[in-house]
Amino acid sequence: MWSDPVPQPGKVIVFSGPSGSGKSTVLRELLRRCQLPLQLSVSCTTRPPRRGEVDGQDYHFVTKEEFERRKAEGAFLECKEVFGRGDWYGTLRTTVQDGLDRGQWVILEIDVEGAMSVMEQRDDLLTFFIHPGSEQELRSRLEGRSTDSPDAVERRLEVARQELLALSRYKYEIINRNVDEAVDQICGILEQHAIGAEHA
Ligand code: ADP
Ligand code: 5GP
Repeated sequence: MWSDPVPQPGKVIVFSGPSGSGKSTVLRELLRRCQLPLQLSVSCTTRPPRRGEVDGQDYHFVTKEEFERRKAEGAFLECKEVFGRGDWYGTLRTTVQDGLDRGQWVILEIDVEGAMSVMEQRDDLLTFFIHPGSEQELRSRLEGRSTDSPDAVERRLEVARQELLALSRYKYEIINRNVDEAVDQICGILEQHAIGAEHA
């Protein structure tokens, strides 16, 4: 008799690293190349969209009032004002749970404080910290991206110095010198966990 395949349980993957270290670039490529059922959790933010960013795809862009309302409802697994400029970012509980229910591996691309908060709530996480290898390289990527004023670049570098202190709290360190190599490394680690889950 035929039986339906038993759905494999989903996983939550946390991905942090200084702004400008290449997280979005690497994750975009990872989603394209890795055969696992990966899903990027789309966060809510009050920051305005950058050129080319799409609502519902890059972020759910919401007003401060809407963000506050959802925060008061307890809709966020974690949320945080990043960079001290009054821009809020948050991971919706429903996004994570819906993904897990469908057996997806849900990726949270969140800052270090948000990651610590999720680590306190769940102990089944795969955690990655990505950085470009040096501050000089980070500066050059932030400047090259041309999305931030010189002041904002300095602020992001200051935050990056603080964030690096949390590196040891993550299971995996990825140095993104080359996008393809970083993607291969992450994909290899995830596949090992997929094999481990099958044999559990
Ligand atoms: P983040 O999402 O961490 O803020 P981005 O993905 O926006 O970072 O990358 C910042 C800039 O660095 C972008 O202009 C991107 O094209 C570039 N970049 C990303 N990875 C690399 C790499 N391995 N080598 C050189 N430049 C990179
Ligand atoms: P950006 O403005 O460059 O898109 O993102 C700025 C920072 O906010 C990045 O470090 C990113 O990881 C973080 N971030 C994005 N979404 C969330 C979220 O939902 N929660 C938290 N805590 N940080 C987030």
